[in-house]
Amino acid sequence: MRPRHLIVNGTETPAADGRTTPVVSWTGAVLTQVAAAGPADVTRAVDAAHAAFPAWSALAPTQRRAVLLRAADLLEERAEEAVRLMAAETGGVRGWALFNVDLGARVLRDAAAVTTQPAGEVLSTDAPGTLSLALREPVGVVAAFAPWNAPLILGLRSLAVPLAVGDTVVLKPSEDAALTSGLFLADLLHEAGLPPGVLNVLTNAREDAELVGSALIADPRVRVVNFTGSTKVGRAIGVQAAQHLKPAVLELGGKNAVLVLADADLDKAVAAVNFGVFNNSGQICMSTDRVLVHESIAEELTAKLAARAKSLPHGDPADPGTALGPLLNPAAATRVAGLVADAVAHGATVHTGGGEPDGAHYPATVLSGVTPRARLHTEEAFGPVCSVLTFSTDDEAVALANSSDYGLSTGVLTADGVRGLAIARRLRTGIAHVGDQSVNDEPQVPFGGVGSSGYGRFGGRWGVDAFTTTRWVTVAAQHTNYPF
Ligand code: NAD
Repeated sequence: MRPRHLIVNGTETPAADGRTTPVVSWTGAVLTQVAAAGPADVTRAVDAAHAAFPAWSALAPTQRRAVLLRAADLLEERAEEAVRLMAAETGGVRGWALFNVDLGARVLRDAAAVTTQPAGEVLSTDAPGTLSLALREPVGVVAAFAPWNAPLILGLRSLAVPLAVGDTVVLKPSEDAALTSGLFLADLLHEAGLPPGVLNVLTNAREDAELVGSALIADPRVRVVNFTGSTKVGRAIGVQAAQHLKPAVLELGGKNAVLVLADADLDKAVAAVNFGVFNNSGQICMSTDRVLVHESIAEELTAKLAARAKSLPHGDPADPGTALGPLLNPAAATRVAGLVADAVAHGATVHTGGGEPDGAHYPATVLSGVTPRARLHTEEAFGPVCSVLTFSTDDEAVALANSSDYGLSTGVLTADGVRGLAIARRLRTGIAHVGDQSVNDEPQVPFGGVGSSGYGRFGGRWGVDAFTTTRWVTVAAQHTNYPF
């Protein structure tokens, strides 16, 4: 792969100080080099985004729409290239990468539809003869931080609606997916006709993430921050944004529970939970991490889930038959192995999997009896690992589900939809699915969490609200009726 530079004002440009940083594959192989941005590059990128804003925001909405629709088509045309890139960079298996292409294209097309939606409302007013308007307007420059784990979807999610409403963007992709969550996407959009400066991409060395991120958030011309990633980093980003009085959308980690009630169809529940836990090797913010099962079916469900997990084709992400690919890198697999070992040391039982990693590979693992002293009890697994916990009443199930500080997504599996809905409404998560597991995403929904899973919503009109500002504007013949 050819070395890449920053994208500033539509042009590939080396970092101001000429530094570069490697793009490392899940195997540890160096794929290429990218530029390592510093504070001077942040200023250059914001200069470009700020300068591009007046023309981009004034462009006919149908022209912005055309760029986004063309980019969606190009993404689909380049699906095979995207799949290869994702497999090489992050270890994502073919099915997961194709899902990223499909949903990424939908994210672009839904954003395209936003361009022709009403840009405000006419309000009622007590002032006679006055037209009172709520005008929705673009904010200016948006700073976007993307994670590595669903790089096409989440890179695009961080920029598509901002571009649609007329904002310009400086994107800081993950160091672990600089190509797939950043440069590849910018290439598509520029080929689709995006004018120079509307989207700028700052790749960085890992050790400079804070330096680059802080400089970006602090630049007074940046108006809104959106961040998708870990709770630890998101908390720091949120504090910085607040210090500068900038709104932020923070989409963070999860410790998602699926509740399996006693009346659930057992085989269907096993299939659902298996998908929720092991899709992308458990490296999804919505991954099912905790399986809460009614005590009467816990033994049978655990045995069936363990058997199914053990049979998942495991191996090379480039092999189309692989269901369970590697983790991001050997360090990620070592971290997951450490969480499992700690759970076992604190009394957990391993039903399948566990043990030592093999490079970046870790086996599908089903545990029960994870006690509160184990790190896995509260920490996001972010690997192919789930903990089965039991309950005896609906109240107990709800209390267990709500005992995590995280609050992203939940599922409730039951034959009784009314009871399922009653439970779902008591769950303290931004997302809840009755009749499904926890991993679901669509661009038109209010996607986001509560508590340690963050705040703000991507998607639909909620995403539009996040990246626009609403102004009250009135128009009247000159008023004359003043009290003094
Ligand atoms: P991460 O927090 O390590 O990185 C996310 C982004 O923040 C990257 O662009 C990274 O370069 C940047 N970053 C890292 N340290 C920084 C710092 N000190 N200052 C500024 N920027 C910094 O997360 P990750 O490992 O890429 O992604 C995995 C995490 O993201 C998991 O916790 C997962 O649950 C979460 N996630 C959440 C959602 C969601 O929508 N809620 C979606 C995907 C992933």
